Amino acid sequence: MDKNTLLQVWPIPAFDDNYIWCIHDGSSALVVDPGDAVPTLAYLRANNLTLKGILITHHHADHTGGILQILQNLGIDIPVYGPVGDDIPGRTVAVMQDDKVEIPSPRMSLKVFEVPGHTLSHIAYFANMQANVVEPMLFCGDTLFASGCGRLFEGTPTQMSESLGKFAALPKNTLVYCTHEYTLSNIRFALAVEPNNLNLLSWADQAKSLREQGLPTLPTTIGQELQVNPFMRCDQAEVIAMAKEISGQAELPTPAHVLAVIRAWKDRF
Ligand SMILES: [Zn+2]
Repeated sequence: MDKNTLLQVWPIPAFDDNYIWCIHDGSSALVVDPGDAVPTLAYLRANNLTLKGILITHHHADHTGGILQILQNLGIDIPVYGPVGDDIPGRTVAVMQDDKVEIPSPRMSLKVFEVPGHTLSHIAYFANMQANVVEPMLFCGDTLFASGCGRLFEGTPTQMSESLGKFAALPKNTLVYCTHEYTLSNIRFALAVEPNNLNLLSWADQAKSLREQGLPTLPTTIGQELQVNPFMRCDQAEVIAMAKEISGQAELPTPAHVLAVIRAWKDRF
């Protein structure tokens, strides 16, 4: 395999805590959820990259606000992929569950997952086991965060639980590219849910050290989130017990019931 054709994924920081992910092979690039055109264009220019496509996970402005300005500034006609159920400015290809997004350059094939919860039409893009992809990659927008999950603006706890279940079934080494640097505050909450989770305690130290060095805490992995993320651990005894204590409910029969309690708790945490 020619090393130069390996895909790289880099964060373009935007606003206070967004990451616009740039996937490239050294010359051709895709960007995911470009909420702001200015840092995106600057990054592409600084790295001599030609933009070949845009991937959008959901309709929120901090994920879509830069699309039209980028297209206009570069004067190019490139595909803009986005969820079928959303009104996305500049979208050229509407995608839904199980659709394949085939990009010739940088060469990659992505599978679409519908993951309602944060918004109703939210989607994620998954790339797996291609010649130029060393580890599987997931671009999950605001559905899953390192040690947390997105707020339920439009969907229900049951929908979010099912969406996170789709992610839990992916290979454990899948690199997860979340779109916000919320990790430290998510860890503070996760520790309130699971104060005795040793994996979480050690991750808290690592994440703090990364942020002190000005480094992103992302990407995370599915395997890591299954160990430290309370929203992906709603079937674990300690999480269920804490959810019962917080809610005063004697029975929380399903992981979705547990998720409903801890998501509501996080909203006021
Ligand atoms: Zn959002």
